[in-house]
Amino acid sequence: MSQEGKLVVITGPSGVGKGTIVKSLLAKNPEIFLSISATTRSPRQGEVDGKDYYFLSHVQFEEMINNSELLEWAEYAGNYYGTPKKPVLTQITEGKIVVLEIEVVGANQVKESFPTATRIFILPPSVNELEKRLRGRGTDVDEIVTKRLIKAKEELAVSHEFDYQIINDTLEEAVADVEQTIKNLI
Ligand code: 5GP
Repeated sequence: MSQEGKLVVITGPSGVGKGTIVKSLLAKNPEIFLSISATTRSPRQGEVDGKDYYFLSHVQFEEMINNSELLEWAEYAGNYYGTPKKPVLTQITEGKIVVLEIEVVGANQVKESFPTATRIFILPPSVNELEKRLRGRGTDVDEIVTKRLIKAKEELAVSHEFDYQIINDTLEEAVADVEQTIKNLI
């Protein structure tokens, strides 16, 4: 008998630490499959095409949208981001746990396109702490940080609509909470 896998969406504002939580989760649970997103944003230093993201042109991304190749997609801070559908569906069929690390609009779309998905919202301990983390990261210019903060406040306002809310105060506790939430699904 084949057992269907599970789709787990991890969302929350930029700078909340979703990426760090997911990295740690995967290091401890290598059987989990992390979906690699497509984006039109330029690679940051050290980012590798096909590993961190599939870096696409606007035309290539729009082609994926038009061919219904994305499970969800959203425009975020001036760029497109989306989840290629095929690898996710393949892994789920093979019984794997598949994790998406995506922003809030896309996470909402997943509710429509994949209703059985479990959606976890990662919260910062406070908005001030989030601003500190975004500025401290030093990867974006001030204007982009400001854009991301405005967006973050809109996103936090709908956090209660998600299945689980986990506060990223200390990394270990947040990872343990996410791990437990996933274990409870199996
Ligand atoms: P960054 O530019 O910092 O890598 O990502 C910006 C935002 O886009 C983050 O909140 C990240 O989680 C989100 N993101 C990454 N991949 C996807 C995706 O495939 N779909 C959606 N909707 N958001 C994504």
